[in-house]
Amino acid sequence: MSAFVTVKGLTCVFDVSKPWLNRVLERRGKAFLTAVSDVDFQVEERTTYALVGESGSGKSTIGRMLVGLLRPSDGDVEIEGINLAREEDPAKVASVRAKIQMIFQDPYASLNPRWRVRDIITEPVLTQGGDLEGLAEKLLQQVGLHPSDAGKFPHEFSGGQRQRICIARALASQPRLIVCDEPTSALDVSVQAQVLNLMSDLKDELGLTYLLITHDLTVVRHMADRIGVLYLGRLVEEADPHSLFETPKHPYTQMLLDAAPRVDGFGREVPPPQGEIPDPINPPSGCTFHPRCPIATDICRRERPATRKVGNALVACHLAE
Ligand code: SF4
Repeated sequence: MSAFVTVKGLTCVFDVSKPWLNRVLERRGKAFLTAVSDVDFQVEERTTYALVGESGSGKSTIGRMLVGLLRPSDGDVEIEGINLAREEDPAKVASVRAKIQMIFQDPYASLNPRWRVRDIITEPVLTQGGDLEGLAEKLLQQVGLHPSDAGKFPHEFSGGQRQRICIARALASQPRLIVCDEPTSALDVSVQAQVLNLMSDLKDELGLTYLLITHDLTVVRHMADRIGVLYLGRLVEEADPHSLFETPKHPYTQMLLDAAPRVDGFGREVPPPQGEIPDPINPPSGCTFHPRCPIATDICRRERPATRKVGNALVACHLAE
């Protein structure tokens, strides 16, 4: 297998300073928010790579940099060997971009309510000048809807059906990589499973590669081939699902697994662990997880841990063994 996507040193810093006059009056300097910090990973072709983390961990920012909605502050994104930031031939960049699609969290917000489903699905092909004859009907069938649904409007569908329409639209331009940003978190649990199964079937059928972005580790357990756990913009653990779920190495991964919905031996729901993700404008020193880490020591407060191999995982923690 070859690496379809290679991400190296990917960094995204936002200037969140107040306007110049306010800064002068308040005697404040500029403020920067590091949303993504020096992230490396690879996605093999026809596999699913899951990026998992809480809100504010930088996972959606990485997804947006991959599809070209955001420009990295530093680092590289290579897709099929083409470096999207450094490639000088715009035709090569455009040909790579044409192979990438994105599915968003809220299927209603991402569908134009005034357009019929046929127009929504065929829009990406229309802009590329492809053949539209019967395309929407074929794709609707492929995602488990009826061809006659092409003439309806988005409000005539349930949440799960609308997400199927979003998937059909993403498939219209025959992508090879789909970035799925929380594709099921707005859906009921039973519908979530159906949509994830559909995505899994389509991956096998069409040879797709997925970057799956989610806050919920349980969603990716049966779907991901590799999982990266993000904390405050940094990849803190990367492993295959079996190693990650059976022997999590990083205390944050352990915390996320503890927070997954479950009940204790008496049938009572186990409360999630305490603690908030820190302010990314003023991140903690050393390991940014140290204020929440139950095993933090002095070195954790002083030094940022390097990423190293521990068992089958890559882990950024001084104490993981
Ligand atoms: Fe916890 Fe220290 Fe490891 Fe950070 S480096 S996760 S604070 S033990």
